[in-house]
Amino acid sequence: MKTKVNHPDFEKLPLVDAEWTEENWRHLLDYLVLNDVVSYKEITSLVLGHLNPSQVGTSIASKKTFQAHFPPRKTWQAVREWHLSQLGRCVDCNTRLELQADHINPRELLGDTADTLENMTLRCRRCNVVRRPSHKNGGLTHLTAESALMWILFTKKPTTYQEYALLCREYGLTMANIRFEEAWAMARWLHREGKYEISDDSKF
Ligand SMILES: [Zn+2]
Repeated sequence: MKTKVNHPDFEKLPLVDAEWTEENWRHLLDYLVLNDVVSYKEITSLVLGHLNPSQVGTSIASKKTFQAHFPPRKTWQAVREWHLSQLGRCVDCNTRLELQADHINPRELLGDTADTLENMTLRCRRCNVVRRPSHKNGGLTHLTAESALMWILFTKKPTTYQEYALLCREYGLTMANIRFEEAWAMARWLHREGKYEISDDSKF
């Protein structure tokens, strides 16, 4: 099945992800909606869910190392004050999405003594992961790994699985190949609906 569902200007997107403008991102969003991959309702619902600073405070308050600094049953009150005093944005990239409580000076250096409210800040999930030495290439797509897997699929449009897996490695994704194979299912599902081109020499 030969299909071509490119949005008119899709080929004009910058190759370097860091150079993407808001206009480019809007373009990709429109593309996903126009091709009935997702609806605006679904997108908005997801965004709203990720704006909720879920378990930012409660995860801290539930830890014994933090509780040790406060009288019995007073931890939450202190954590809540800390939580409210934050800016509500990631200290590294400024996003409001997917905020997590993160250490300023890492636990790897300080051990349990790192667990004080003064040493805690808000950092988004992506920036949190990218900080770890094992993920030094993780920032290449400026997305979380799970998003990057789909970003590569929809913007680079590899027509074979082999090409897709290669692209994923080039973008610094370090997970096992089976995760790429799993993500490739999206290409296969969309192909069946006439919305993604897969060439005959694709491995599967
Ligand atoms: Zn961030």
